[in-house]
Amino acid sequence: MQTIVIAGGGAGGLELATRLGNTLGRPGRARIILVDRSPAHFWKPLLHTVASGKLDPQVYQVDYSAQAAEHGFHFVCGEVEGVDRARRMLRVGAWRAADGSEMQPARAIPYDRLVLAFGAVTNFFGTSGAAEHALTLDHVQDAERFRQRFIASCMRASSRHAYTPVDIVIVGGGATGVELAAELSHTVRELARYKVHSLDPASDLRIRLVERGERLLPQLNPRLSRRAARHLRRLGIEICTGAAVARVDADAVHDSAGNCYPSDITLWAAGVEAPEVCTRLGLTLNRLKQVMVTPSLQTVDDVRIFALGDCSSHVCPVKGAAVPPRAQVAHQQALFLADLLSREWKDALPQFRYRDYGSLVSLGPSAAVGALAGASGREVLVGGWTARLLYRLMYQKHVMALHGFARMAAQTLAHWIRTKVTPPVRLH
Ligand SMILES: Cc1cc2nc3c(=O)[nH]c(=O)nc-3n(C[C@H](O)[C@H](O)[C@H](O)COP(=O)(O)OP(=O)(O)OC[C@H]3O[C@@H](n4cnc5c(N)ncnc54)[C@H](O)[C@@H]3O)c2cc1C
Repeated sequence: MQTIVIAGGGAGGLELATRLGNTLGRPGRARIILVDRSPAHFWKPLLHTVASGKLDPQVYQVDYSAQAAEHGFHFVCGEVEGVDRARRMLRVGAWRAADGSEMQPARAIPYDRLVLAFGAVTNFFGTSGAAEHALTLDHVQDAERFRQRFIASCMRASSRHAYTPVDIVIVGGGATGVELAAELSHTVRELARYKVHSLDPASDLRIRLVERGERLLPQLNPRLSRRAARHLRRLGIEICTGAAVARVDADAVHDSAGNCYPSDITLWAAGVEAPEVCTRLGLTLNRLKQVMVTPSLQTVDDVRIFALGDCSSHVCPVKGAAVPPRAQVAHQQALFLADLLSREWKDALPQFRYRDYGSLVSLGPSAAVGALAGASGREVLVGGWTARLLYRLMYQKHVMALHGFARMAAQTLAHWIRTKVTPPVRLH
């Protein structure tokens, strides 16, 4: 019986493990092993809502062991450290408790086929002081750290005799920066309503979005960028475009034109690259450390190793461009590999084709903007409640892929009831 190991249980990896577990693991046709350094999965596109205190990550995470038991795969918790390609062994480090004590020893897991699905981490582009002083949104722990600093800053500022404003600088005007800025503006109003602090949300909290390009959301249609910018300005968010950040200090962000933006909390959301582990595999990488793959998602160096999602670089043979680091891509690649790995191919392997269904960006609890791919291939721009509803459906789709329709419907109902009986944001 062959062993398929999936390294990384994120948007793509967990969906692949679930599908292969159902089709190959349960009937005993193959052994499916998922390895992740965390014991639970959280869908990354929701991280900005954890950072703003809107979502409690404990409620929305998926326990890998429970998912494995229900869907016929095995789960191993530990950090992947490297691969012995000659012996076909994946090296996994010890799993340690928060105090550093070892809970499970380091292991080597044999594989017949290996799928790399490590995702991406923040790219600081070598900016001086950024790694030391800026927070990121790579993991749930990062989002929690941001939330705690945010609430502490608001409370500290409001306990002083003369209020000093709280300055938050978000570097990067892409989807993550825009979504976080909008959610924070909502959160600070809710915290004031519950008297968690006594700041005036309109004047005592300054949120700045600093973007190097000439407009926000550069990957979207310019009309949507303008619409998003108008919405954010109405919320009191300052937008600084054409500002390339040159240095980050503990209390300020400086751009290359010499402007200084005071900052109590700096969040870096200006780009991603593949994690360090990819450089230790002996595989061909691009300049963002992403593993280069063939049109069948096989690594260019090793036919037994595949890669999907943000840690891989798949160049579309038709368009000649690399697919973007998005949940939509990871999902489609997981579907593709679930089919490819569950069959025997006598001739050439099938090729992955990415279908772009469009992009949606949340602008807080009641608005979003986006562009959808219309039937004729033309872009259809959406906004307001329609876009907001479609944005919510992206997460429901992910839950459905993992748990099926009934569980997704039950979770949606539970979420709706929770919003009726608990405050709209976490208060401490
Ligand atoms: C704040 C934020 C908002 C986003 N919003 C959107 C959005 O609105 N729409 C959209 O399409 N995309 C969005 N994205 C991008 C989307 O989340 C990613 O494209 C998607 O999650 C990639 O899936 P993946 O499976 O490649 O990796 P991930 O989902 O990142 O999962 C990687 C997994 O690998 C594990 N891992 C990493 N290294 C190791 C190791 N060495 N050993 C063991 N395990 C390891 C991690 O713990 C993680 O579970 C957003 C991302 C962020 C950060």
